[in-house]
Amino acid sequence: MLPIDLTGKRAFVAGVADDQGYGWAICRALAAGGASVCVGTWPPALRIFNGSLRKGRFDRSLPDGGKMEFEKIYALDAAFDTDEEVPGAVREDKRYRGLQRYSIQGVADRMREDFGPGTLDIVVHSLANGPEVRNPLLRTSRAGYLAAVGASAYSLVSMVSRMAPLMSRGAAVVSLSYLAAERVVPGYGGGMSSAKAALESDTRTLAFEAGRSRGIRVNSISAGPLGSRAARAIGEIERMVDYYDANSALGGANTAEDVANAAAFLVSPLAAGITGTVLHVDKGYHAMGMQVVPLL
Ligand code: NAD
Repeated sequence: MLPIDLTGKRAFVAGVADDQGYGWAICRALAAGGASVCVGTWPPALRIFNGSLRKGRFDRSLPDGGKMEFEKIYALDAAFDTDEEVPGAVREDKRYRGLQRYSIQGVADRMREDFGPGTLDIVVHSLANGPEVRNPLLRTSRAGYLAAVGASAYSLVSMVSRMAPLMSRGAAVVSLSYLAAERVVPGYGGGMSSAKAALESDTRTLAFEAGRSRGIRVNSISAGPLGSRAARAIGEIERMVDYYDANSALGGANTAEDVANAAAFLVSPLAAGITGTVLHVDKGYHAMGMQVVPLL
């Protein structure tokens, strides 16, 4: 037997606010592998997430029917690198009031206080935000484009840079990308396709820079469509899921578990020789060059 054994490892999964998306599925897989899991949750979603956890809405969510226990839940707004740069209007927003140190550096500092340096083994970047995602690129403003790239791609660079001192040698980072980085996907606008292209390119450069300086591996998963909260905000997600179901190489619906298991592999010691790669986990849809014609 060759198991994925994450016993004794600590993970930080950024971008978890419910049990519908890839982040949650990855938490489950990491916990099933034996890792302790901390999460970073966007402040606007934090109260509802905490409330759902308190009410037991996500109990019995582990593969064996057990409860998903988080070691710690941090407020995280990955659009900000330092607490000083958070604008007054955001600080005063009722969803942020009472919260502190939710920038990427703020969370890195809190984790260092909580656990000490060299104690973080796995970082998962499972977040994206494009305020103008419903606009075609030609109707995307500069501000909308930069906001998409800042929150969805630069945030990975910032997390690797600011969390690296917390990470153990041999630690692994994985992010979530999408085929729109390399092919045209109508409807995936607002600069989000550009953000995913940047995320994939940065995966390679970070793999080199963080690999040589600290032995950190950096990979990305180009995942198939999933009806998560974020994807439903883009619109048309059910049609995309059905389209992949009918037209992928393997056929059948893409699942969060497939993606989560691949993430668990990539951050495990079994993938010690893999870095700087973008792994498609989409039932082989990316390999197709033509729509499947139903056989009559
Ligand atoms: P999701 O809604 O579960 O996750 C997105 C998370 O990002 C949410 O928890 C949201 O609160 C958080 N977020 C948004 N802005 C943030 C910010 N500024 N700081 C911190 N957190 C922020 O949806 P998901 O679809 O599972 O998305 C996870 C990742 O998977 C994203 O990178 C997404 O682009 C990628 N992905 C999704 C699909 C899909 O079809 N759902 C396909 C390929 C890739």
